[in-house]
Amino acid sequence: MTQFADLGLAEPIQRAVTAAGYETPTPIQTKAIPLLLEGRDLIGIAQTGTGKTAAFVLPLLSRLADANERAAPRSCRALILAPTRELAAQIDDSIRDYAKFMKLSHCVVVGGVKPRPQIKKLEGGVDILVATPGRLLDHVSTGALRLDGVKTVILDEADQMMDLGFMPAIRQIMSKLRKARQTMLFSATMPAQIRKLASDFLNNPAEVSVAPQSKPIERIQQSVLLMEAGAKRNALRDILKAPEVKLAIVFTRTKRGADRVVQNLEKDGLKAAAIHGNKSQNQREKTLANFKDGSVNILVATDIAARGIDVDGITHVVNYEMPTVAEVYVHRIGRTARAGTDGIAIALVEPDERTMLREIENLIGKYLTAEGAALHIPKPVKKPGGGQRQGRRPQGQTVSAGGNRRQGRPGNRGQSQGGQRRAG
Ligand code: AMP
Repeated sequence: MTQFADLGLAEPIQRAVTAAGYETPTPIQTKAIPLLLEGRDLIGIAQTGTGKTAAFVLPLLSRLADANERAAPRSCRALILAPTRELAAQIDDSIRDYAKFMKLSHCVVVGGVKPRPQIKKLEGGVDILVATPGRLLDHVSTGALRLDGVKTVILDEADQMMDLGFMPAIRQIMSKLRKARQTMLFSATMPAQIRKLASDFLNNPAEVSVAPQSKPIERIQQSVLLMEAGAKRNALRDILKAPEVKLAIVFTRTKRGADRVVQNLEKDGLKAAAIHGNKSQNQREKTLANFKDGSVNILVATDIAARGIDVDGITHVVNYEMPTVAEVYVHRIGRTARAGTDGIAIALVEPDERTMLREIENLIGKYLTAEGAALHIPKPVKKPGGGQRQGRRPQGQTVSAGGNRRQGRPGNRGQSQGGQRRAG
């Protein structure tokens, strides 16, 4: 098995990796680090949780240490672009950890906070700048930052940046960089637009692809509660009051929804905080810190704000409102069962959300409700007068779909659902 010592990283970086408690490199690290140390451009197909941040930060630090240069004023030597403030802050935290035995400057430039302190930090030049695309371009347009000194650029979670509408900004930024540089692009998926971005801006890139460390979804015990919208508040309270809930994330679709859920939980005597795009950066950081240290054990989040939240020990994920895109469900529940632990995911599904539930079942290839399973075909109930109606499961009943119970492809479930099934 490959060891960190085999990868050719500079000594202070190896020391930092040991101090971080890492024993062996993850697959993406084993594959990517040697290529990146050679200076190759790279496309990395990998999700969060695979160790991809260290896969690009460690060789970047090593090359910066070897080059032994200084950043020019209002300039940076390496630029990392990330889709959200949270992810940018998290990458910066990783840089701090991995560079703890080096002399190196780094800073974060993101929207939602005052630009002045950022401008001050940029004045003297920084070695590594971690930024979201919009605010970065603001600083470029005012002259607070020049991009012609960038020798390494990293696009992290490129597909997310595209989903958030950053593609024009990214292209604009890339077009301002010098040609002689190293470029890396990391993305969980490779839609055509990202492939095109890579072919336009990367030079003969190596490509590495890894599956998530262990597919977390298999370790997550998923269940669904079917109920009317009005029953969700009490159901959520009852779920979260259970003693086995140590750290929980509750997902809502909207920012207002998140605030409302927090208010209700607090009225019910639980400690909860919301994290969403209307909160200031300082509020978000404070909330996240309180959640990490357990002083607030329930985080109520919208999808955008939750992106990149990497907190170990989340025992429960509750989908209070179902997402509008099935893939987002998988991303949400992946907040639990990290670092080899198990996790519980519970979805509260109201009648209008049943179509989305079907789409999710199709995506993950397993039924989350017994009514969907061939094993549990509801028996027709004879109505007085000879008519028939399909039996219905009482609302609020939980059906667990955890463990290894594979129930066949939802798409094949045929006609047996009768009146239970919604279109879609
Ligand atoms: P990432 O995929 O970059 O979000 O990393 C996921 C988690 O894995 C982070 O908490 C890292 O600290 C951790 N990690 C990264 N590399 C290793 C490694 N080689 N051994 C153990 N943990 C690691």
